[in-house]
Amino acid sequence: SNSIFAAVELAPRDPILGLNEAFNADTRETKVNLGVGVYYDDNGKIPLLAAVKAAEQARLQQQPPRGYQPIEGLGAYNTAVQNLLFGAGSELTAAGRVITAEALGGTGALKIGADFLKRLNAESKVYISDPSWENHRALFESAGFTVENYPYYDAGTRGVNFAAMKAALLSYAPGSVIVLHACCHNPTGADLSDAQWAEVVEACRERGLVPFLDMAYQGFADGIEPDAVAVRLFSASGLQFFVSSSFSKSFSLYGERVGALSIVTANKDESTRVLSQLKRVIRTNYSNPPIHGGAVVAAVLSSPELRQQWEDELAGMRDRIRAMRTGLVEAIKAEGVTQDFSFVIAQRGMFSYTGLTAAQVETLKNDFGIYAVSTGRICLAALNSKNIGYVAASIAKVL
Ligand code: PLP
Repeated sequence: SNSIFAAVELAPRDPILGLNEAFNADTRETKVNLGVGVYYDDNGKIPLLAAVKAAEQARLQQQPPRGYQPIEGLGAYNTAVQNLLFGAGSELTAAGRVITAEALGGTGALKIGADFLKRLNAESKVYISDPSWENHRALFESAGFTVENYPYYDAGTRGVNFAAMKAALLSYAPGSVIVLHACCHNPTGADLSDAQWAEVVEACRERGLVPFLDMAYQGFADGIEPDAVAVRLFSASGLQFFVSSSFSKSFSLYGERVGALSIVTANKDESTRVLSQLKRVIRTNYSNPPIHGGAVVAAVLSSPELRQQWEDELAGMRDRIRAMRTGLVEAIKAEGVTQDFSFVIAQRGMFSYTGLTAAQVETLKNDFGIYAVSTGRICLAALNSKNIGYVAASIAKVL
């Protein structure tokens, strides 16, 4: 063939999207998709939060024109992001040490951060946790970096192998970029303690590393403020660092693509220069972000009533996930299983590394129509009062 595409090879299927396709094609009525990465309510639906609905209705009535946004997005939105991440009375923001750019979700924030870093220090290596969100590696590699893993999850203790993680950090070359899950580690649900975070901050200082915090689930562990502990410890350290953040989960606004990249610099003058370079990265990628999602989030966060309503709704999502953790553990036990699953209760965020083997996950799919990631990761937010008993009974049968 003389087509210009004749030599294009078929790319491997995204494993999670492949799972969704198989789930959709399954005709069993009892099927359950635990492989997803989104929050479903007790009816198995993605919620549209009441605070979001109210802000959208107000916006619709206003009928605002659709001019271009600034390259770094809406100012009110970026300020609201800074208040959530760094605290409303943050000395860093007051000193002009933080720049924030609205981005296309957390993924977009990671991507513009990666592109900016590549221009800053082309030779650095990037280290991600073992395991990590599957897109971290691809994303930094596509920005031109070599990506390696630092030790993180310990299947034996179902926690973090912190000694190994810290030793690894202390062995990396100065300038290495360390991608850290700020809370609700995806996929394992295993987080660092506050004391361990303090040690990570010191390791980064001692070794001259570049911390890149990824905060995709603020509010899903203990709440907005407690979940920001890693960001706050880095803020207090005087170091420079990156934070990507996302409202996909916390506002249930997945498809609106609302996230942000924040960079903490040494001083206000540096901030001006760094922002000017970040704007070049944005300008040559997508020029400026879309309006709607950011405007809605800004409206919610700058209205005391809507903000309270949002925090209540976020607490509702957090509490429901927790109830599903306890419920699953109890229901598995009630099936007569003696193996201890109580670690599921201690894990944080939307996911659990259940310890189910790839073979057990395969049997769950084939025999019961229950879909999970082959690593044994399940999404607790895909469980609900109707399917939890069936899932527990099925897990009991494959153990
Ligand atoms: N980072 C982590 C750890 C995630 O789990 C996710 C989403 O699943 C993201 C980033 C990306 O979020 P967004 O959908 O806002 O791009």
